[in-house]
Amino acid sequence: MSAPKPAYQRILLKLSGESLLGKLDYGIDFKTTLSIAQEIKDVHALGVQIAIMIGGGNIFRGSHGTAEGLDRVSADQMGLLATIMNGIALQNALEKLGVFTRHVSALEIRAMAEPFIRRRAIRHLEKGRVVIFSAGLGSPYFTTDTAAALRALEIKAEVILKATKVDGVYTADPLKDSKAKRFGSIRYMNVLKRGLRVMDATAISLCKDNDLPIIVFNLRKNGNIKRAVLGENIGTKVY
Ligand code: UDP
Repeated sequence: MSAPKPAYQRILLKLSGESLLGKLDYGIDFKTTLSIAQEIKDVHALGVQIAIMIGGGNIFRGSHGTAEGLDRVSADQMGLLATIMNGIALQNALEKLGVFTRHVSALEIRAMAEPFIRRRAIRHLEKGRVVIFSAGLGSPYFTTDTAAALRALEIKAEVILKATKVDGVYTADPLKDSKAKRFGSIRYMNVLKRGLRVMDATAISLCKDNDLPIIVFNLRKNGNIKRAVLGENIGTKVY
């Protein structure tokens, strides 16, 4: 039987920090990180070029800090550092599975990760290395969702795969409202008008202005990253 053909050659996978939590309330569950790495390896084996934007919400979010009285900029800087920690963990997990990676940080931290140089990042992808982007855009007042959209455009990814803990985009929060219905697909404008919490509005606008599709899917179902890459009808497509 011939190998299944991926629908995309180059993807950007957005992983929230929460995806590394496993059953923990805080921090990094390395077993969970390894199982996500295994899923990434399975997609990589299809010959797909993979870049990942990793979030930091499992460790620190700017909003936690401001709620405690920290200045926004300081709080966001702490959030940015959290994403670098996650990047290190994810890189380690992928390496343990024999996947070649490069950790690319938007903040200079050369002993741990290389700086973002667009052409170099693209070259890594072409050579089959999984590129892990951390430190978002390196500036406060942004999120890793917006960073995912910008980097996806810069590296010419064909799609953003936005991993979440629900099956896609719903009319309401499906974890709170049993009547919530899932959209098979939805236009960017509708996401913005309805204020649906897919990605933040800056990220959605950037994708809209540049026709970059987003597939929102459930990371908790094993094999879903691969299903999305193979073009199976899972989750919600924002277009
Ligand atoms: N952050 C930032 N600039 C960026 C990306 C992230 O200041 O370009 C900070 C912000 O404080 C954010 C934190 O890093 O709360 C963690 O990122 P995010 O909340 O996007 O992580 P996720 O929700 O995906 O885990």
